[in-house]
Amino acid sequence: MVIDLFRCIGCHGCTYSCKAENNTGRGVFWARVFDYEVGKYPRVTRSFLPMPCMMCEDAPCEQACPSGATYRRKDGIVAVDADKCVGCKTCMLACPYDARFMNSEEVYFDPAESPRDRLRASLRQPGAVEKCTFCKERIDRGLAQGLTPGSDWDATPACVNACPANARVFGDLQDPDSEISRLIATHSAEPLRRELSTRPSVYYISASKPIQRGEVG
Ligand code: SF4
Ligand code: SF4
Repeated sequence: MVIDLFRCIGCHGCTYSCKAENNTGRGVFWARVFDYEVGKYPRVTRSFLPMPCMMCEDAPCEQACPSGATYRRKDGIVAVDADKCVGCKTCMLACPYDARFMNSEEVYFDPAESPRDRLRASLRQPGAVEKCTFCKERIDRGLAQGLTPGSDWDATPACVNACPANARVFGDLQDPDSEISRLIATHSAEPLRRELSTRPSVYYISASKPIQRGEVG
């Protein structure tokens, strides 16, 4: 995923589309957007930093997980097998991006309301740690229908579809001709905190220096 910080207007459309798609519990936000201030008064600007799971290639969460519940799929998505998760929260401590949450039992939609809400409720498992999945169920369903993630709505993460500013672009990092590969090359997009050596799969377009610890809050 590429996130263009010039385009993001901090509307939280991604945050709430994620909640609607994934039916996360109260206080749990897989698609967070932080506000931060750049410069010194009176010369300050306000900017926004959307933060999904970074889908790290060398994921500390996967390495720390004692039960093998956290795993990396062939397509690069880091996922959690809720049936294997023992709820020890070791992965939450290991993730340097604070992208993991313990699932509460709360759901937003009454599972009795509709088949779709029953599906949403079935995605949540109390006592398991969870996080942004890049909407892997959407991707898998879309691929099964011959759709292309990043191009076709039904195969693309909900946050990308919902963004009114087109600040989020999704696609195949391995394909040098994909839109995200071209954006990364053209804008010298960088992952957040590359120095942590987790090899994130989320890149940011930003003209400023890389965001440092302590600047976001
Ligand atoms: Fe794991 Fe955190 Fe990296 Fe996501 S951002 S893959 S949860 S270490
Ligand atoms: Fe930024 Fe797009 Fe998210 Fe709105 S929906 S906060 S513009 S990334």
